[in-house]
Amino acid sequence: MTFLLKPGELSLKKGNKAIFQRILLRNLTALLAGTSAQIQSRDGRIYVNCADEAAEQAESAFSHLSGITGWARARTAEKTENAVIAACVEEARLCFEEGAKSFKFESRRTDKSFPLTSYKLNCAAGEAVLNALPNFKVNVKNPDVKICVEIRERAFIYGKEKPALRGLPVGSAGRGLLLLSGGIDSPVAGFLMLLRGLRLNAIYFHAYPYTSNEAKQKAVMLAALLRRYSINLKLFVANFASVQQRIKERAPEAWATILLRMAMMEMASMVARREKCACLVTGESLSQVASQTVENIASTQSRATLPVLRPLIGMDKESIIKKAVKIGSYPISILPYTDCCSIFSPEHPVLHSRTDEAARLYSALELDFSKIELETPAI
Ligand code: ATP
Ligand code: MG
Repeated sequence: MTFLLKPGELSLKKGNKAIFQRILLRNLTALLAGTSAQIQSRDGRIYVNCADEAAEQAESAFSHLSGITGWARARTAEKTENAVIAACVEEARLCFEEGAKSFKFESRRTDKSFPLTSYKLNCAAGEAVLNALPNFKVNVKNPDVKICVEIRERAFIYGKEKPALRGLPVGSAGRGLLLLSGGIDSPVAGFLMLLRGLRLNAIYFHAYPYTSNEAKQKAVMLAALLRRYSINLKLFVANFASVQQRIKERAPEAWATILLRMAMMEMASMVARREKCACLVTGESLSQVASQTVENIASTQSRATLPVLRPLIGMDKESIIKKAVKIGSYPISILPYTDCCSIFSPEHPVLHSRTDEAARLYSALELDFSKIELETPAI
C-alpha cells in the first residue's frame, strides 16, 4: 500500500526548506517506528509504502504529524496509457461508490516521456470514467472529488485526500517547557505551540498529600496525549506542598495564588534551562480568572527567566473547549480531581497586584527550590 503525503507551509521557507524537510522526515520516521514502512521523499511529496496490515497504524501516525496539509492512499500503475487510465477508472469507481456525485481529474506529469500531456490525460481519463460510470458527472469548477494523477517514477492516482494538522514540523522551532495543569487550557496551549514547531517537555506542580495521586495521573494522561504529537516529551512532576505551606504561613491570604504562580515560573525556568528548553508555555488567557489580569500576569512573569508564550491569551473559553474536544484532551481535563491551585486559594484574591509589592512578599517566603522533590513519571 502506498500513501502520498503533502508537506505544508515548509514550501514557504526558502533557505530553511531542507532543514524543515529533514525534521519532518525524522518525525515521520519516529511515528512510523515498528511498522517497517518505507519512506521516500521526492519533489515536494513524501511517499510511504507499507504492508496492508500496517495501514491503520500509518494513518494514525500521519494524523499526529505536524507539517503536512494532507495525505491520501494512492493507487500505483505502470506508466503506460492503458494502465493509467484503467487505474483512474478504478479510483473514480471507488469515489462514486463512496457517495461522490461529480469529479474532475488533475494530472501532473513530472516524467515528460509519458505520451500524453497533462491536459490530454485529464480528457482521456474523464472520457473513460464517463463511459464506465454514466451517472458520475464532470464538474471542473466545484467537483465533489478531485482525482489527482501524478506521473513520476511510477504513476500515482489518488482521490480522497484526508486533511492533516498543517503547522510546522515539531522541533523546527526548538524546545519549550509547558506548564501543564490538569485543566482544560494548558494542553490546548501546548498543542497550538507544537503546531508552530515547538518540541515540548512538560512540568506539573502538585501538592501531595494535599492533592491526590489521581490528580497527578490526570497530568500523566494529558502528557501522554501530547506525546503522540511531540515524540519523546518528558514530564516533570514537582511537589509544591512545602511551597504552598510556606505561602500560607508568611503571606497575606489574598496573595496566595499570585505567589504560587511566581514560584511555578521560577522553578519552571530552572528546569527549562537544565533541559535546554528556550521558552515556557502556559495556558493563560487574559482576564479569564483573577490571576490572569495584566497586572497579575506581570507579577507572575517577573520570576520567569525565559520568554513565556501564551498562545491562548486572546481566546475565549468556548473556543478553547472546542479545541480541547478536537484534540481529545477535554474528557481527561474535566475529571474531577483537585488541582494544587484550588487548595489554600483565597476567596478574595488580589486583582491588580503591584510588581514591587509582589517582589517584596515573594522574597519574604525565602523559597529554596533545591529541596523540591522532582519526579519524571513514566508516561
Ligand atoms: P488550565 O486549564 O490550564 O488549568 P485555568 O483556567 O485553570 O487553566 P489557571 O489555573 O489560572 O488557569 O492556570 C493558568 C496557567 O498556569 C495554566 O494554563 C498552566 O499553564 C499554569 N498552571 C496552573 N496550574 C498549574 C499546575 N498545577 N502545574 C503546572 N502548571 C500550572
Ligand atoms: Mg488550572
